[in-house]
Amino acid sequence: MVDSKHIACHECDLLVKLTHLVEGCKAVCPRCGYTLTANHRNARDRVIAFSLTALVFLGLSFAFPFLTFSAQGQDRTATLMQSITVMITENFTSLAVIIFITIIVIPALYLFCAIYVYVSLKYSRLLPGTQAVMKLIGHLKHWSMADIFLIGILISFIKIMSLADVSLGLSFWAYVFFIVSMTAAVLHIDKHQVWQWIKEKENLPVAPVPLSGIHQGCHVCTDIADESKRICETCGAHLRLRIKSSVQKTWALLITAVFLYLPANMLPIMRTNFFGEETTNTILGGVLVLWEHGSYPIAMIIFIASVMVPVGKIITLGWLCYSVQMQSQKSYQQKTQLFRVTELVGRWSMVDVFVVAILVALIKLGNIMSIYPGWGALAFAGMVIVTVMAALSFDPRLIWDPINKKKD
Ligand SMILES: [Zn+2]
Ligand SMILES: [Zn+2]
Repeated sequence: MVDSKHIACHECDLLVKLTHLVEGCKAVCPRCGYTLTANHRNARDRVIAFSLTALVFLGLSFAFPFLTFSAQGQDRTATLMQSITVMITENFTSLAVIIFITIIVIPALYLFCAIYVYVSLKYSRLLPGTQAVMKLIGHLKHWSMADIFLIGILISFIKIMSLADVSLGLSFWAYVFFIVSMTAAVLHIDKHQVWQWIKEKENLPVAPVPLSGIHQGCHVCTDIADESKRICETCGAHLRLRIKSSVQKTWALLITAVFLYLPANMLPIMRTNFFGEETTNTILGGVLVLWEHGSYPIAMIIFIASVMVPVGKIITLGWLCYSVQMQSQKSYQQKTQLFRVTELVGRWSMVDVFVVAILVALIKLGNIMSIYPGWGALAFAGMVIVTVMAALSFDPRLIWDPINKKKD
């Protein structure tokens, strides 16, 4: 029988006994290398401080000009909000909604939730709904793309530097500080640690569970529960040994991603009007133009983020699903590492969509030079979202189950 000192690895299901962690240390799964839990120094105060700072800077990034663009004696200043609202005026409302949600709503909500949970942990009794808010944090963290938007701004900036004078406004710097503070807050939040604190405060019981076999580790709060249990006693989440129909769901999402990837590459992602002459750009076309103009680093970044990463992600996840279905008993560790990389880099493909949004908002000088979005950008954004969902629906513990089952 095990107690709360045990944790079932989230990625390989190995049962690990946790000893007391000194501040500044982390516990790593000895089998797959996954970080089980970390005890950050002053985590409670730091998360509150960093989250509050991030929210203040996010607010400030709406207050001033973001980027200023001048060419042929004409000036155009774009604010952060304009890079979103311009998509609505261009009849690309769905793209505007995706950008607004991923770069503003989700990061802001995440920060508010983090403050609520960590303030609640400071009181002797938890504030109402702390568990529900903590659960929400777990879902939100996969969908915040504010950091990628920042890289998108830098790429757009370098892209148009040769065409005109571009300057960074005060709000741009506020946005940079927002990203830095938010990243610091995210790095200090440890799911296992928070749920342990919640458990202590609520005096929740520790249910004994069998040591052998495959474990029913709660995907929300990391607790281990008896196989007969359907609902987690700590967080109230529905319990399952493994994500339900994980492989089938992942396959379905991957096939959808392939279908979206075709129009994303064939349709133009933007149209450029230069002195009355209109040209359209597909993703690959854009990379080639950048390459011809000698912007090799940006051409490489866009090529890696928009072509290699999505294709690599679809192939890797497909291969992992296939190997799970074949119950392959080879290279468990490498497969887990591959899954981790795929999960980490997948959302960065969104960078090209953000570049289009920024260029469209900024370059609006009537007939001299204007940029409009293309349908390829929407298909591409859809493809990135579907591949992120595919990675989330894949249960990496399935890779290790041939070993896990053998131990019975
Ligand atoms: Zn592990
Ligand atoms: Zn739970």
